[in-house]
Amino acid sequence: MEIERHEYDVVVIGAGGAGLRAAIEARQQGKRTAIICKSLFGKAHTVMAEGGAAAAMGNVNSDDNWMVHFRDTMRGGKFLNNWRMAELHAKEAPDRVWELEAWGALFDRTKDGKISQRNFGGHEYPRLAHVGDRTGLELIRTLQQRVVALQQEDEKLHGDPEAYIKVFAECTITRLLKDASSVHGKNGAISGAFGYWRETGKFVVFDAPAVVLATGGIGKSYVVTSNSWEYTGDGHALALLAGAQLINMEFIQFHPTGMVWPPSVRGILVTESVRGDGGVLRNSENRRFMFDYVPDVFKDKYATTEEEADRWYTDQANNRRPPELLPRDEVARAINAEVKAGRGSPQGGVFLDVSTRLPAAEIVKRLPSMHHQFKELADVDITKEPMQVGPTCHYIMGGVEVDADTGAASVPGLFAAGEVSGGMHGSNRLGGNSLSDLLVFGRRAGAGAAEYVNGLARRPAVSEAAVEDARAEALAPLERSGGENPYEVHHELQRTMNDLVGIIRKAEEISEALDAVEKLKERAQHTASPGGRIYNPGWHLALDLRNMLLVSECVARAALLREESRGGHTRDDYPKMSPEWRRKLLVCSATPDGDTVDVEERIQPSMRADLLALFDRTELSKYLTEGELTEYDAVKE
Ligand code: FAD
Repeated sequence: MEIERHEYDVVVIGAGGAGLRAAIEARQQGKRTAIICKSLFGKAHTVMAEGGAAAAMGNVNSDDNWMVHFRDTMRGGKFLNNWRMAELHAKEAPDRVWELEAWGALFDRTKDGKISQRNFGGHEYPRLAHVGDRTGLELIRTLQQRVVALQQEDEKLHGDPEAYIKVFAECTITRLLKDASSVHGKNGAISGAFGYWRETGKFVVFDAPAVVLATGGIGKSYVVTSNSWEYTGDGHALALLAGAQLINMEFIQFHPTGMVWPPSVRGILVTESVRGDGGVLRNSENRRFMFDYVPDVFKDKYATTEEEADRWYTDQANNRRPPELLPRDEVARAINAEVKAGRGSPQGGVFLDVSTRLPAAEIVKRLPSMHHQFKELADVDITKEPMQVGPTCHYIMGGVEVDADTGAASVPGLFAAGEVSGGMHGSNRLGGNSLSDLLVFGRRAGAGAAEYVNGLARRPAVSEAAVEDARAEALAPLERSGGENPYEVHHELQRTMNDLVGIIRKAEEISEALDAVEKLKERAQHTASPGGRIYNPGWHLALDLRNMLLVSECVARAALLREESRGGHTRDDYPKMSPEWRRKLLVCSATPDGDTVDVEERIQPSMRADLLALFDRTELSKYLTEGELTEYDAVKE
C-alpha cells in the first residue's frame, strides 16, 4: 500500500506554544518546516493556560530582575533544576514577551500603560504578564498570526503560502525514524517521523533530518487530571524509543486547585490567579489552614498572621506573602492532609473563597473564565459563594534530557522544548514559568534544529524497514479480534497511577504499581480495536497506551528509587529532603521495543560560581551538601 510522503528540513511535533515558537524560528532561519498536531490546530494545553507568562520585566515592582526570577525558580524547583536552563529562562523571558507584543499580543496594562504583571505562588514580585485569565489563548493566537504572516511573505516570495511552513493537523506521530548509518560520528541520526491521519487512518511519513518534540504532558495516565485527551506522553515515549533519555520523571505537579464536583468535571483546573488575586483557602472549620503548613525553608518569607497576609496585597514592601501563595507542591500536600484529617468540604475538597475578598464586579473582570466555568459546570456563583477544590494531576517536570542552549537531545537530529523536555523546573515548576519556558526554549530548539541541519554533510535516509515496522505496529490492534478492550486497560492504568503513585507515595505501593503496570503492558499487547481505520478512537487509544504505559513505568521506577521527598515527589516513608539526593538525577532509557526501562543515577554538574553567589549561605545550607558549601565559601572569600 502506497504511503503519503512529505519532505522537510525541520519537523515540529506539537502546535502548542513551544512547537509554534520553534517552527517560527526554524522558518525564520530559512528552513522548510512542518508543524504536526494530534488535534485541531489551535487546540493545545497552551490555549488553556490562564494565569500568565512569568518574566522579570519589573513593570509593577521595579525591584524585579532576572536574578530574583532565577532565585525564585531554583527555590521552587528545590535546587534540582538544570541551572543553565533556569538562567537562560530568567534572562530571556522578558524579550520573548516583548517580542509577542510586537507580533500583536494585547496584554492587560498597568495604569501607566506598561504590560501588567500579577502575583503568583513562589514569585517574589508581581511577574506574570497576562490577559485576564485567558493568557494562553492570546499567546497561541499571536503565534498563529505570526505563522500566517510568514506564510503571506512566502506567498509573495514563492507563490505558495505553504512553501516554507505548513501545518498538518489531526495527524498523530507514532514513531521517529532514524538513519541506519553514522552521522556526525554517531549512529542512528533522526531521518523523519511516521504517523497516521486521525480522520482516515491512512499513514504518512515525514522525511526530515531534524525533529523538534513539543508534545506537552502526560496527565492522561491519571484519573484526576487537568489535562485533556491528547496528553498521553507521546513525545516522552517517542524520544525514549528513539534512544534518548528522560530525566526527573518522578516529579509530577499536582495542582492544588482542581474542581472536585460534579464528578464529570473532577480535575478541571481552577487557576492559581484566584489565590494571586486574594482568594483564600479554608477548611470545614472555616480556618485558613495554610498558616499551619509553612515549611521551615520558607518560614521567613511568608506571613504568620491573617492581618499581615491581607496587608501584603496593598503593601508588599512591608509585609510577607500569604501562605496560600506557597509553591504548588506545598499547597497541594496541605489540602490533601486537611481532607485526610476529616476537615474537608462536603464533596471531598476544601473551600477556596474569593467572594468575601473582592467586589463581585471585580471578580467577574479579573476572573471571567473561572466565573463562567463554575456557573456553567457546577451551578456555583463564585461572586457569592466559595468553590470546592482539591489536587489534580497537572504537569510533569520530567522529560527529554536536552542541552540547555540548543534543545538538542542525545540522539543526533532530535530536539525537544516545552513540557516534554526536562530539567528547567527541577522538582517543581512555579506557575507562569511554563508559558515563558515555551517561548524561551521553543525559540532555542528551533534555532538549534536549523543550525544542526546547516551543519549536515548529507541528509540522513529514512529506513524503509523502519517504516514497515511502524506500519505493522500501528495496524496490529486492528488486525486482532476478541482481544483486550483498550478503554479498560487505560482505566486500570489511570486508577493504578492515581492511587499508588499519586501525591503521597510509599515503597510498597509504588512496587505494587510497577507489578500492575507490567501486567497492563502485557494486556496492552493484545488490545483489539474493531471498526476499521476511519475515525476509530478505540484504535487511537490502543496506540496511545504504549506511550502511557512507558511513561508510567518511568515515573514509578524513578519514584521508587528516590528515597526522599522533594517538590512533586513526596514519600511517606522518606518525608525529608536530602542534600545528597539533590545532586542526583534519575535518568531513564528504554530498549527500542519499549520492553525494558532502565533508570540510572547521575550526579548533576555543580552550579556555576557566579550563580551560586546570588544566594546567601543560610539559604543554601538548607539544600546543599557540606562539600558544596565548602566550595561556596571558597568562592565567596
Ligand atoms: P502543548 O501546548 O500541550 O501542546 C502539545 C501539542 O502536541 C498539541 O498540539 C498536541 O496536539 C501535540 N501532540 C501531542 N502528541 C502528539 C503526537 N503524537 N503527534 C502529533 N502531535 C502531538 N502554564 C503557565 O505557565 N501559566 C498558566 O497560567 C498555565 N495554566 C494552565 C492551565 C491548564 C488547564 C493546563 C492544562 C496547563 C496550564 N499551564 C500553565 C501549563 C502550560 O499550559 C503547559 O505546560 C504548556 O502549555 C505546554 O505547552 P507545550 O507547547 O509544551 O505543549
